[in-house]
Amino acid sequence: MKKRIETTCVQGGYTPKNGEPRQIPIIQSTTFKYDTSEDMGKLFDLEASGYFYTRLQNPTNDMVAAKICELEGGSAAMLTSSGQAANFYAVFNIANCGDHVISASTIYGGTYNLFAVTMKKMGIDFTFVSPDCTEKELNAAFKPNTKAVFGETIANPALTVLDIEKFAKAAHDHGVPLIVDNTFATPVNCRPFEWGADIVTHSTTKYLDGHGAGVGGCIVDSGKFDWDKYADKFPGLTTPDESYHGVVYTKQFGLGGAFITKATAQLMRDFGSIQSPQNAFLLNLGLESLHLRIKRHCENAQKVAEFLQSNDKISWVTYCGLKGDKYYDLAQKYLPNGSCGVVSFGVKGGRKAAEAFMKHLKVAAIETHVADARTCCLHPASATHRQMNDEELAAAGVSPDLVRFSCGIENADDLIEDIKQALEQI
Ligand SMILES: *Cc1c(COP(=O)(O)O)cnc(C)c1O
Repeated sequence: MKKRIETTCVQGGYTPKNGEPRQIPIIQSTTFKYDTSEDMGKLFDLEASGYFYTRLQNPTNDMVAAKICELEGGSAAMLTSSGQAANFYAVFNIANCGDHVISASTIYGGTYNLFAVTMKKMGIDFTFVSPDCTEKELNAAFKPNTKAVFGETIANPALTVLDIEKFAKAAHDHGVPLIVDNTFATPVNCRPFEWGADIVTHSTTKYLDGHGAGVGGCIVDSGKFDWDKYADKFPGLTTPDESYHGVVYTKQFGLGGAFITKATAQLMRDFGSIQSPQNAFLLNLGLESLHLRIKRHCENAQKVAEFLQSNDKISWVTYCGLKGDKYYDLAQKYLPNGSCGVVSFGVKGGRKAAEAFMKHLKVAAIETHVADARTCCLHPASATHRQMNDEELAAAGVSPDLVRFSCGIENADDLIEDIKQALEQI
């Protein structure tokens, strides 16, 4: 029976058999016992599936990954220790030294650093394009060594909405996959695979967990990208892996399993960014109420955005649920049931006024966090995007006066009264 998204949030990923625990068990064990060395050998050769060491795979993690996989409509998924690890693995699984990747310029500051600084040191070159670029501009960014295109459904904190179909078409016309970070929209509000994306990533630290309890990430594969058709571009997936006795991932695991198996077998093995089973358990508790929380986050954000728009101490408001917002039409297409709980705005008086305003908030807390049950806010130019110069800030859609306000699931009137009293004091 095909379940609806609300039912998958609650019950996906794990169906207990007769007499088994109703809640997913926390398998707090680093290792797994086998009767013979031959049994173990088959696991190491990827000839049999099973658990042997939690750095690679753990049953609790796999149950939670399976739920997120179902929510996104994918073929396979894996949890990672953080969203950073998820985006790094998703790109590094197919792009190596000497390769090139195209990314939307409006992305999370940490991802920008990962791409523009750290992965560049590893010999992977990135071209950043505006999410609003024309098809012609987008096509012009491709090089013979381009291996992937990357973007965020709703960018953190610029709140641009990615035209997923436009980016997917350009990627596919050049024989490469589109990777979409779906952290802000969540699969409740948008499932990028339905619009042509090939790989989805998440910082589960945000709405999926939703309670600020555990840092984590997830990668989901749609199973639809035909690596074999562009075999010369993706030798890591289509030619023998000597570190696993010559296994060819696409041959042995099919298009549905190749990407995640390779990321597990090579990247988890070598980098070890596994999520702890305890955190996976907490993440699953969060997922059980995701559909309810997201609805409330969006309702609160809509009310807060409308209030801010009508207040004369506010110079601008960005929220794609506002009529007249630059991304309203794209949001109507890709996010018809709501976008996210995050609103960006500028306080008249710029950077100084923004900081003064934030200091007076009582319900909303200043935090390097977002997408949490509790309302929080941040001044990105002095925090997450601190490393960027003014030009890079502008390209990332972050003005110096930008306040990122993440509406929680409290009462909207309390949030509005809090903002009102803080504005009155500046
Ligand atoms: C927070 C965030 C990340 C990084 O995730 P961590 O779990 O903090 O490592 C990546 N992408 C987006 C869109 C984010 O909001």
